[in-house]
Amino acid sequence: MTAWLDPVRMVLNQRNCQLNCYFRDDDAGWDDLTLFKLLDLFQLYAVPIDLAVIPKCLSKVLATELVLRISEYGHQIGLHQHGYNHSNHQSTGRKCEFGDCRTADQQFSDIVIGQRILKDCLGDYLQPMFTPPWNRCTQDTVDVLESLGFESLSRDYSAVLLQTDQLQEIPVHIDWFAKRKGVRLDFQMLGKQMAQRIQQHDSIGIMLHHQMTSADERAVLAELLELVSTHSSVHTCLMTEISGCYSEIL
Ligand SMILES: [Zn+2]
Repeated sequence: MTAWLDPVRMVLNQRNCQLNCYFRDDDAGWDDLTLFKLLDLFQLYAVPIDLAVIPKCLSKVLATELVLRISEYGHQIGLHQHGYNHSNHQSTGRKCEFGDCRTADQQFSDIVIGQRILKDCLGDYLQPMFTPPWNRCTQDTVDVLESLGFESLSRDYSAVLLQTDQLQEIPVHIDWFAKRKGVRLDFQMLGKQMAQRIQQHDSIGIMLHHQMTSADERAVLAELLELVSTHSSVHTCLMTEISGCYSEIL
């Protein structure tokens, strides 16, 4: 069953320097039970995971459970802000919570309220990173984030370039649920995509969505976690851990 990982294994075996590997799971706040199953899996393989948390959807129960897991699991879960309430505000075109249909003032209001909710619930466990829903935002978003003391922004590696002196971009490169022409990529294609990234770069960020991750899906993901947690060329880490290596991660 692990044949889909053969290209990944091959390029890892050929490496002569370390690969930084990180996972960003989006939409914490939705479907807690499935999120906990994903966190259990990462804990089993001792692989760190970053969670993009939707402030408006974070319940007290979830916040308590996340903080408990972090204190028990040695800070191997990173928590950061994922928009405000994950609404699409665009009247046409691709979905965005922080797109050009929102003014700078509206964006400021959403982000600062979201930041307060997360700080209240998560305290010092909240990291100063922002992932915009659908990986899309505007220059106004960047300006707001800078004014609120954020240090990192995470989008897709191919996202449009935005001007910033303060924010470190820590992008994702692989979408576990990627589609091409409306059809989901099979695992063979996903393995090839990963191998290509690993062959040319020193870091790889993989985006997950726990709410779409069935038991069968987790079994396949376990194969990847087994590989990256045991291969001598791979360093699995939280996103903030590699925030100093700007040129390496784009
Ligand atoms: Zn999302």
